[in-house]
Amino acid sequence: MKGVGQVLTRAKGKRRGRGRRGLRTARMERIGAERIDLLVHEAKRRAREGEEALASKYIIRAKKIAMRLNLKTLGKYRGEFCKECMVPFVSASIFRARLHGKKKVITCLRCGNVHRRPIEIKNLDREK
Ligand SMILES: [Zn+2]
Repeated sequence: MKGVGQVLTRAKGKRRGRGRRGLRTARMERIGAERIDLLVHEAKRRAREGEEALASKYIIRAKKIAMRLNLKTLGKYRGEFCKECMVPFVSASIFRARLHGKKKVITCLRCGNVHRRPIEIKNLDREK
């Protein structure tokens, strides 16, 4: 898909904006957030189609944008992909989910990384 593959390349070739470090304009944030959403969306689609390597590349790319712009956008996708190999958990061939006591154990079948998360009980066990 066009537009998705390329990361924010504006600064390429040119001297990286001096005195801009850590400072981001509202526009940069918006564009970055949009691109992250797009990349995650595309990554999930690819993963469903079996292109896991490509999918994780997209997630890594999204993460880099988030880190560069200091965005929290990726936070809403927490738990939706492997923290090790960045593959999105979209199909049963990628991950295995089991309940273990009060924990949800998600095993990535790609790299074997295990994620343990407390079972979410909505509206009941809210953080104060
Ligand atoms: Zn993994």
